[in-house]
Amino acid sequence: MFMEQQRRIFIQNAGLLAATAAIAPNTLWSVNKPQKKLGVALVGLGYYSRDLLAPALQLTKNCELRGIVTGSPEKIPIWQQKYGIKDKNIYNYQNYDEIANNLDIDVIYVVLPPSMHAEYTIRAANAGKHVWCEKPMAPTVADCEAMIKACKDNKVKLAIGYRCQHDPNIQAYMKVGKERPFGKVKMISSAAGYFDGRTNHWKQNKALGGGVMGDMGVYALQGARLATGEEPISVLAQSFTTRPEIYHEVEETMMFQLEFPSGARAACHTSFGIQMNYLQVNYEKGWLKMEPHSSYGGNKGSMSDGTIINFAIENQQAKQMDEDAMAIMNNTDLIVPGEEGLRDIRVVEAIYKSAKKNCLVKL
Ligand code: NAD
Repeated sequence: MFMEQQRRIFIQNAGLLAATAAIAPNTLWSVNKPQKKLGVALVGLGYYSRDLLAPALQLTKNCELRGIVTGSPEKIPIWQQKYGIKDKNIYNYQNYDEIANNLDIDVIYVVLPPSMHAEYTIRAANAGKHVWCEKPMAPTVADCEAMIKACKDNKVKLAIGYRCQHDPNIQAYMKVGKERPFGKVKMISSAAGYFDGRTNHWKQNKALGGGVMGDMGVYALQGARLATGEEPISVLAQSFTTRPEIYHEVEETMMFQLEFPSGARAACHTSFGIQMNYLQVNYEKGWLKMEPHSSYGGNKGSMSDGTIINFAIENQQAKQMDEDAMAIMNNTDLIVPGEEGLRDIRVVEAIYKSAKKNCLVKL
């Protein structure tokens, strides 16, 4: 019995060694380093890093905040005092590539305006670090493809910060889309927006990747894509603004229709001019409603058979980062890989084309 156990342990270990030999050197974090958590460096210390990600990284079990990359030196003492970040783990945009030599950092989380996502993801991948990149993945399909390639070439993982796909409430309606207990999807209505009163922000600047479609629009789009489990085959879109003095480079509001291969149709609405956050799906034999459907917490809904969707979730971003860290540690599939970010940007590009040319665009 003892011999058999020993034999099994040997086989397991031999399998583990064979598996680790096939993994890139930078994924051997557990072999090279004694610490149990992955070290994360946040790039860009604006609203989302400061108010959501850094606090969430105090709750995570598989990763922790160890580094920052910033172009604003005045933020450094504040972050060091709050999070005890070591001097050697602080970078600016010029010396960022030197992070390659820093064994404290396993993952770089890009939390910059969208036009900067491709450059900072590719530089992180070339430094041999895994990358988490905020949504929208990048302004163009070409950027997204370059990001995916750089991560593949460097054998590092690329996750997109679609926190909702880690939320059990969103996973519940995705499951309905896959298993179809109410038959095929017939019609979807989804909306995501808030009133943005700022007058001089990158969200109003085209060169920085602004415009509501990439920002809140991807939530309305994801609602339709995830509820059907399909990719759209055509789009028809129209944009407008109620505040041309602020939104003269980019759209404040976008309305878009999607057609899916099964025949399902979606009417989607996104805006920086009004608060809205819901998803409604009509199936052949029932319905599902979520409101809110893309918030940081409290996403909930109901179905025509009486099912209530209302799972408790302690912290969405902490769950997202813990699950992404686990996928890196175990070298398993990510819940939201770069390819999923690219799927959205393909549709976003078609939506812009349709709005500009005022015609149906096939995908
Ligand atoms: P923000 O404007 O508050 O922060 C942007 C940061 O980038 C700032 O620290 C700024 O100094 C830095 N920066 C560097 N170069 C810049 C430049 N040329 N112009 C402007 N800023 C520059 O933005 P944010 O709301 O934190 O958004 C950052 C990213 O996070 C975006 O991709 C956004 O879509 C994403 N985000 C995601 C969620 C989510 O729920 N997943 C929520 C909010 C923001």
